[in-house]
Amino acid sequence: MRIFENLESEVRGYIRSFPTIFEKSKGAILTNEQGEDYIDFFAGAGTLNYGHNNEHISQALIEYIQKDGVVHGLDMATSAKKEFLQTFNDLILTPRNLDYKVQFTGPTGTNAVETALKLAKLVKGRSNIVSFTNGFHGLTQGSSSVTGNNDYRDEAYISRTNTTFMPYDNYFGDMNTMAYFRKFLEDSSSGLDIPAAVIVETIQGEGGINVASKEWLQELESICREYDILLIIDDIQVGNGRSGEFFSFEFAGITPDIVTISKSIGGGLPMALVLLKPDLDQWKPGEHTGTFRGNNLAFVAAKVAIKQYWNNDDLSNAVKYKEKILKDRLQEIANKVKDDLEIVVKGRGLAYGFEIKDDNSIASDISKKAFEENLIVETCGSEDQIVKFLPPLIIDEETLLEGLNRFEKAVHKLIEEKKEKLTGEF
Ligand SMILES: *Cc1c(COP(=O)(O)O)cnc(C)c1O
Repeated sequence: MRIFENLESEVRGYIRSFPTIFEKSKGAILTNEQGEDYIDFFAGAGTLNYGHNNEHISQALIEYIQKDGVVHGLDMATSAKKEFLQTFNDLILTPRNLDYKVQFTGPTGTNAVETALKLAKLVKGRSNIVSFTNGFHGLTQGSSSVTGNNDYRDEAYISRTNTTFMPYDNYFGDMNTMAYFRKFLEDSSSGLDIPAAVIVETIQGEGGINVASKEWLQELESICREYDILLIIDDIQVGNGRSGEFFSFEFAGITPDIVTISKSIGGGLPMALVLLKPDLDQWKPGEHTGTFRGNNLAFVAAKVAIKQYWNNDDLSNAVKYKEKILKDRLQEIANKVKDDLEIVVKGRGLAYGFEIKDDNSIASDISKKAFEENLIVETCGSEDQIVKFLPPLIIDEETLLEGLNRFEKAVHKLIEEKKEKLTGEF
């Protein structure tokens, strides 16, 4: 570990939560240099929906490199890119009746968000954007200006103008927050500048696994249509099958104007895209460009992943099946400890949160205890008060259950320690 402490910037983050050196990985398992296995319920923050070193993807990458396939070619045409586009169109867009053009951005999620915001402003000629409480959209300047969490919003480097936050679904309990948004738009004296776009996650991944209802999303879409506002769905974390369907908005029957995709789209390799309705494609050639606009290895990986997992409903059905296991088991654990902790279990698909109402530090303590039990599980939410479950979608049932057993052990150990501390104090 000393090399990291001496040489790597203090900004390093996840290494602190999971302090060991990983050497190998396969499926839902990470293995450290000592040969110890860890069950991975974090999946690279949702980049590994198809698992670590997925055999279909690894095989295709090896073959591609062996035949000297183009690895980098700016945004010139390559066979790998052609095949990705064809596959994405045939297996993802066409069956869902979605008519989008594809824009390749820089390879991380925030690059896609920056692109989406810029495009919306270009098309509408307005500069304001509406985003939602607890939203997370990345940490470059434009993306962090639409991100709620105060940790990332230092006065010195956030553009504080041109963003208005509105309350997300359930922000005030039962209050209809779409009625609130509508009132602000209707009232010419509300102080809200009509935005070029709204940007929203259907399930807030970093913000606490807050789940928007179908009705709320439908109402948001109709408000956008009524007021000529573009609807951007940020599907970076909960797209690619995480919700049980390829896009997380499919269940609501809405059609966003712009969709941002990243994390798992490249099968674990860096890749990001923006989907835009054809009439929004008002860019001039090269107007929004850069060096790494299309990672050919990621195109190869993405094509194989889509062919393997999205040519039938098997993966979708498996996610729904495993969701029930995850949800029921988390609820069972919550019930067992209800005399000691107040827990709320929430989520959709294979994105679940185990929220601890008592004390904000408990979730992080449980995550630490879980790591001691060889389980990798992260926290999320404004105060890191929620343990987040994001296992690879391809995880087998046995490993999922074993990971949940380890989690239960960690929760019990934490409660026991807390009690011992209390008795010690008296
Ligand atoms: C992770 C994430 C981003 C940012 O992606 P990076 O690759 O970290 O830049 C944006 N939006 C959502 C919803 C995310 O989960």
